[in-house]
Amino acid sequence: MPESQRPHFDVAIIGCGPTGAGLANLLGQAGLSVVVLEREAAIYPLPRAIHFDGEVMRVFHGMGLGAEVEAVTRPGLKGMRFINAAGQTLLMRGGTAAHGPHGCANNHYFHQPELEAVLRRGLARFDKVRVLLRHEVFAIAQDANGAHLSVEDTASGRLFEIDAAYVVGCDGARSLVRRLIGAPMKDLGLVQPWLVFDAILKREVELSDHTLQICDPARPMTYCNVLGRRRRWEIMLLPGEDPFSITRPENVWPLVKKWITPDDADLERAVVYTFRSVIADGWRRGRLLVAGDSAHQTPPFLGQGMCAGIRDIDNLAWKLVQVLRHSAPEALLDTYETERSPHVHAFIQLAVRLGDIIQTRDPAVAAERDRKFADSPEVFSFPQPTLGPGMLTATPHAGSIFPQPRLADGRWLDEVLGKHFGLLVKAGVGTVAAGPQERVVVAAPGDALDAALDALGVSAALLRPDRYIFGTAQDAAGANALQRVLHTGLAATQGEALAA
Ligand SMILES: Cc1cc2nc3c(=O)[nH]c(=O)nc-3n(C[C@H](O)[C@H](O)[C@H](O)COP(=O)(O)OP(=O)(O)OC[C@H]3O[C@@H](n4cnc5c(N)ncnc54)[C@H](O)[C@@H]3O)c2cc1C
Repeated sequence: MPESQRPHFDVAIIGCGPTGAGLANLLGQAGLSVVVLEREAAIYPLPRAIHFDGEVMRVFHGMGLGAEVEAVTRPGLKGMRFINAAGQTLLMRGGTAAHGPHGCANNHYFHQPELEAVLRRGLARFDKVRVLLRHEVFAIAQDANGAHLSVEDTASGRLFEIDAAYVVGCDGARSLVRRLIGAPMKDLGLVQPWLVFDAILKREVELSDHTLQICDPARPMTYCNVLGRRRRWEIMLLPGEDPFSITRPENVWPLVKKWITPDDADLERAVVYTFRSVIADGWRRGRLLVAGDSAHQTPPFLGQGMCAGIRDIDNLAWKLVQVLRHSAPEALLDTYETERSPHVHAFIQLAVRLGDIIQTRDPAVAAERDRKFADSPEVFSFPQPTLGPGMLTATPHAGSIFPQPRLADGRWLDEVLGKHFGLLVKAGVGTVAAGPQERVVVAAPGDALDAALDALGVSAALLRPDRYIFGTAQDAAGANALQRVLHTGLAATQGEALAA
């Protein structure tokens, strides 16, 4: 088909998992034209992710889907414990507050197909977003005019082409787009097969409300109360165990007999996954970008793989909007990897460290570990890394996520800001002029926003649409300067820290 007659979109998203569907919601909300191409006919019916954190719930709220997502999740208020074979607690994950820094609980549990259904339904809100199921992308070329995708409608066998200004590969661990970018994977060292066993209780069974990492050298396992009657066990395969035969019911039930039997629950599925810890080196080449599992994979000990994908898209979406709608230079898109890669690295590194603790098989090493922790269990939290270098100033706290306080008028900060830049200032700081893309919010003396600025020791903070701090200032002149730096930066992003 001649190029002039081919359908053209601002962004083509390959893959409609949580990363792709989430990105389409963010871009649709911004008014971009988007096509989502998904090979499968329906949502993958079996759960993988079961947990996400408060920052991710905030992103879902930012998509306008907060209430719908809350309806299919439960807040996790009990936390995670690492216990040894004797049941003694070695480590605990802190931060189980019902109202954490993001204006919601810090942890949420869910059934992944239900969450994905919410994200897909959200797309119906946007006339300019098209979802093509049973459509597989098998080749992509790019030139000065755009990216050209070769697509097969697998229902009919018809082959056709689609053009887009940018292509985002949200196409999972075996990503085509990552291969076309030519990005090698950096391996952080953990590769281990685990059996994932999902059960649906048929009757009340006494099981822990805590997520348990059972650090038993004879059989490392994870247990989680997911949602409603759903319960998950993840079970490490031992050397020599066959990943195929172990999934047969007669082999999996004995592994969990200490907790449940077939009289108590139905087996929803048992499947072996190989847990990995990898990050792609190269998230963009020209018009091609990757996000989610196609850019990185983590062992799920922190429940953070999908979370990282959602953080990716919140970082990338506003940059695509700036480039496509506000004439920002393409170099802004390079800050996506430089900012996000070190951030996700910190989470994967901690997951690998925890994996070393959980997966210990040598009884002597396990005994030594137990001696170290059992007297005084260690409390750890999710990392709170700052972003790597990118579209940020060199001012204090730049690159950190700003919390979400409730304002004096009862509204949440993000409700007021929408997906705009936000200039937050303390009352009495002086006159600040809102730039074309910013919303100014003045803290009322003593309110939660005022307290959040006080906690940082600043009088003003300029937030990006993803709620990471672009820069901070101590007075109105500094706040106005931050805005000038932002606009200059958006006009000529070089990827290095901007001087405020
Ligand atoms: C056992 C387990 C437990 C986990 N627990 C958690 C947890 O508690 N919390 C958490 O945050 N994360 C968790 N994760 C990780 C999480 O499930 C993944 O990070 C997440 O599903 C990745 O989403 P994605 O959209 O990036 O990729 P995927 O969900 O893999 O979606 C990719 C999509 O792209 C499509 N596709 C691929 N190639 C093409 C093509 N060429 N053309 C068209 N379509 C294509 C595929 O069909 C697929 O639908 C867990 C993972 C596992 C395995």
